[in-house]
This record gives sequence, structure tokens and C-alpha cells, in this order.
Amino acid sequence: MPMRRLRRCKIVATLGPATAQRSALADLFRAGADVFRVNMSHASHDDMRERVHMIRSLEQEFGRPIAIMLDLQGPKLRIGSLKGGSVQLTRGAHFVFDQDSTPGDATRVQLPHPEILSALQPGHAVLIDDGKVRLHVVEAYPKKAVALVDVSGTISNRKGLSLPDTEIPLSSMTEKDRADLNAGLDAGVDWIAVSFVQRAEDVAEVKKAVRGRALVMAKIEKPQAISRLEEIMEISDGFMVARGDLGVEMPLEKVPGLQKRISRIARRLGRPVVVATQMLESMISLPVPTRAEVSDVATAVFEGADAIMLSAESASGQYPIETVATMNRIAEEVERDPFYRQIINAQRAVPDPTGADAIASAARNIAETLDLKAVVAWTASGSTALRIARERPDPPILALTPNRETARRLAIVWGVHSVITEDAHDVDDMADRATIIARKEGFASAGERIIVVAGVPFGSPGATNMVRIAYVEN
Ligand code: PEP
Repeated sequence: MPMRRLRRCKIVATLGPATAQRSALADLFRAGADVFRVNMSHASHDDMRERVHMIRSLEQEFGRPIAIMLDLQGPKLRIGSLKGGSVQLTRGAHFVFDQDSTPGDATRVQLPHPEILSALQPGHAVLIDDGKVRLHVVEAYPKKAVALVDVSGTISNRKGLSLPDTEIPLSSMTEKDRADLNAGLDAGVDWIAVSFVQRAEDVAEVKKAVRGRALVMAKIEKPQAISRLEEIMEISDGFMVARGDLGVEMPLEKVPGLQKRISRIARRLGRPVVVATQMLESMISLPVPTRAEVSDVATAVFEGADAIMLSAESASGQYPIETVATMNRIAEEVERDPFYRQIINAQRAVPDPTGADAIASAARNIAETLDLKAVVAWTASGSTALRIARERPDPPILALTPNRETARRLAIVWGVHSVITEDAHDVDDMADRATIIARKEGFASAGERIIVVAGVPFGSPGATNMVRIAYVEN
């Protein structure tokens, strides 16, 4: 039986101790995971390589390309150590951040990033442990900052620190990220997710290091990135609405609106957007989600997100396979809902004035008018398939490519089912092979029709210039 998904929205599953075995990865894939994410905040190079190796062997077993996302930790800020491991901070008390590496107490702690200390200004918020403890700076000096505690709580050794008001004078790529990136590229990952992006230059720096060996996804999680959203998104190959950190650094009630804004810009650009974090959070420890979580997943699918992501649910939860299966069921059901098409169509971006977009738009129109069974794109770089996905056509998109990397990268893109096949020799071969593959992969039966999109002459990227309606023969 050919393996195809019955939904357009893709599923990203983060790997971790709950999904370390090959059999667990196979079950995740069967349940619906299209992309596996390795979070370098937790994985060693050996873990990562082992997972990549297992996923590549699953590709062979299932005969389907699978995307692997390497998520770089980025400049995660932390406080230093504390006497006894933790201290209680009380509302109204003063607390000092300094450069002294001796363990801190209820009056002070080290902030082991000198450049950050000097960037703090009076009024800047300082959030510790995902915002559980909150302070604001009242006096700022080059080597220390005095803060007032606004929300009491216990802080412990090396807890994470968020500075929503401070422009952090650090590149979004640390030495660890560089080493992780090189290891990931050597292992052959497909997507690099960049954490704590603040500026377009942060993405540019990663792209320069990647040199086309993978695509680069900007995680949108900082207020500084929101104020420069268009320029960051312009330069990135894809986007993640990283709602965990976004909800720490921005008022929580702003996150849904930002999710919509990022999703719509992504749609206009025609590049994939992933909605992430706490989607089915309660399934970390329970076999069923809450109604609110189901509704959250459904909202992202109705919005036309390219992919929805699981973090701890699949990495360290008790029900990783059930969680993916639940997400799969929700996405399938939403896409069958009569309102789905209406909502998706209402958000369609007008075609850019290019041959590729004019053809993509025409192909969708023809396919929907004639009830064709698939839009088949011959694509070398993946760009033709992306422009067709931007149209969000009703029939599924079948991407035919000679490049294994392209097929894998497209696994995260809305509606795209990729098949690796050698380039067509001529226009007839292009149509014939498209119909044979569409039938073999379960998209069309004998007597049905598909539409084929390509650029001729073959092998010249960026020259999408032809559509053809083709019959599937007996
Ligand atoms: C997030 O913050 O929502 C996120 C996806 O990033 P991470 O899992 O790296 O914290």
C-alpha cells in the first residue's frame, strides 16, 4: 500500500527520552509525524547522530522522505549559582545582578554575561524561570544592576533568565550552536531552527554558516523580533511561532494575535510556518487532551499552518504515540469541516507578478474547476511546490523531484507529498510519469485526471512555465 497522509497540515514531533528507540520513531511516523525535531538544548551530538541514522533507515523502510529539524539552543541566558542551591526572593526587596562568580544569596547573584549586564537599563524587566519570578531594574551600572522584586518566588542555580525589554548584544549563535550546527549538517539534517532571533542579521549569520546545506527557520519568540518581523521573515526560509518563550517575553494575551500575524505573513511569502508549544500539553501525563487544547490545534489547522508541533508531549511524555495520533485525527477532521475551505480561501494571498505564481494560481484554478485529483509539480529546488502550496489548492500537491534533500525539506510544507524520481526527459515523459506516480501513490485512479506543472527546459531552476492536464491510464 502506498503511504500517504489524509491531511494537508503536517506534524512535527520533538524527540527525547520517551522516543529514543527506533521502534518508537517508527510508531510516531505511522501515527502521523512528518518531521522529527532534535532539540540541541537537551541532545548530545551522539544522541543526534543516532536519531538521524534511525530516521534515515525508517525512510528506507517506509519509502517516504522525512524531514529532520535541528533546533539550536541559542543564547539562553542563565543566572549563576546560589548558596544552598536556591533562595527565596520577596516582593519589594532589592536584588543585585553582578559579575562576582561566588555563589549568590537572597541579596545578589552573578549574571555570567558581562555584555548583558551593561545593556540593562532602569525600567527593564528581568524574568527568572520562565517568568515565575519577576523583577525590574532600578539602578544600572556597567558591571552591576540593582533590581526590585515585583513577583516573589524561589530561584535556583542556573535558572533561565528572560529580558523582554533589553536588546541583547549577542549573536543568536553561540559557540555551542556553531558546534551543534556543524555536527547536524555533517549528519545531514534538513532544517535548522534558530532560537532567540532578534534581528534579520541573526538569521543571515546562520544562513552564511549553513551555505545552502539545509533550510533555516527563524523561531519567533522575542519582542525584539516582533518589532522587526517583516525583515526577519523576508530573509528566513521558514518560521516557528515559538509560543513558549514568546509567552514569557510578551503578555500572554498577545500570543494568539501574533500567531495569526506570523501565519499570514508566512502565507504571503509562501514559506512554511510551524505553530509550536503546549498544543496538547496535558497529554504529557494523560491519554486524552483538554477540549481547549483540541480547539488550539484546530485553530492552527483552520488558519492553514504548514505544521503543528509537539515538544515535551512526544519527547518526554507518557503518551507520545497517542499524542501524535490525536493531532492527526484533529487535523483530518478540521480539514473535512465545511468551514475549512472557506477560511483557507479567504486568506489566499494574491500571486506575485511572476511566471511561477501566475502558473501556480492557474493550476489551482483549473484543478478546482475540473475536480482534478492532484496538482503535480516537477521541482528541483522545491520552489515550484512552495508556490503551489501558497495557493492552498483543494487537491493534494504531489512534488516530483530528483533531489532527495528537496523531498525531505518539503515534508514540512502544507499539502505536499514528495516523491524522488529522476528528471523528466521531455514534455510527454513529464506528463506520463506524473500520472503513473499519482496512481501508484494513491492520488488518482484510472480515468481520472491530474494537472502537471513544470519548467521547460528541465533542470533550469526558476523557470516554471507550463501546465498540462493529463489522464491517468489503465
Ligand atoms: C518555544 O519557546 O516555544 C520553543 C519551541 O522553543 P524551545 O522548545 O527551544 O524552548
